[in-house]
Amino acid sequence: MLYDFKWPIYGHQNQLKFLQETISQDKLANTYLFYGPSGLGKKTIAHYFAKSLFCQDAKQKPCDKCYHCRMIEKNTFLDFYKIGSREELNAENIREFLRNLSLSKINADHKLAIIYNTETINIHSANALLKTLEEPPANTTIILLADSIVNLPATVISRAQLLKFQSLRRQDMEAWLSNYKLTPEEKETIINLSFGRPGLALRMMDDDLENFKKSSNFILKLLSSNTFHFMQAVDKWFAVLKKEYPGYKVYELGILTKQYLDLMEVFLRDLLWIKLDRPIVNEMYKDQLVDLSASFSEEKLLKNLLSLNKIKNKLKYNISPQLLWENLLLSLK
Ligand SMILES: [Zn+2]
Repeated sequence: MLYDFKWPIYGHQNQLKFLQETISQDKLANTYLFYGPSGLGKKTIAHYFAKSLFCQDAKQKPCDKCYHCRMIEKNTFLDFYKIGSREELNAENIREFLRNLSLSKINADHKLAIIYNTETINIHSANALLKTLEEPPANTTIILLADSIVNLPATVISRAQLLKFQSLRRQDMEAWLSNYKLTPEEKETIINLSFGRPGLALRMMDDDLENFKKSSNFILKLLSSNTFHFMQAVDKWFAVLKKEYPGYKVYELGILTKQYLDLMEVFLRDLLWIKLDRPIVNEMYKDQLVDLSASFSEEKLLKNLLSLNKIKNKLKYNISPQLLWENLLLSLK
């Protein structure tokens, strides 16, 4: 049967073709294991796979109009099982989930279960899962989603049809982002900072880039101010952080500031790249970066990048992050 698949997915062409063919040819495996870093769209693909499998339309999959499609969107479709928020994935819940899956009777002609975050299940849950995979209930397909398979038992992996997901190519990211209202510079910056993972891009765009802009302006201010103002800004920043997160331990405050160190690294590298005439990451701030690059030498920037990396490593060791930031800022100037 030739269906018209309507999945709003960019990239992953081979995986989509494979999955859609298994539906067209009615050749479903008992178990699939989708794996690859978070933010690639594995969940969305599993969702559209399920919807297409159950959709009652003769041509378009999914049609979004039939009874099954509507029930799935409302999360009330009885043959579609899901589990996997991190609290849910203990051995007892998994056993219960698998028992329900085996015992329940089928309403449509197939049952489908999705287990999210499979990489976090412990050995007891894995054993329960293995039992089900070894003797799968009739007409039932299980999709396991995992960000990584290194910690999954080989016995589980070997029972599944594996589908590896990788970062999207630049052209797929561009095509996808053209659905959003962005300036060319915003689009470029998002592509550069999301590494082919739409999930990361969505997180950046979540608040119309407000958080990213705020953080970027803060880093720019630090980089362009003199030592005295720099120290003042850091003092103020940590006073606010301590007030906002009163119970936080030293290393927890450190983790809060790590994203700023990451962004600082992007800025420092861009400054160096401007000097070397190479394409930069943060296109949104190109003008300011070009201006700022005049006040740093290439050697200085290289040195700064190195000391920043040392400081990043030290954050793990319960050293006051404020002290580390002050050291960084002193060495920057
Ligand atoms: Zn439908």
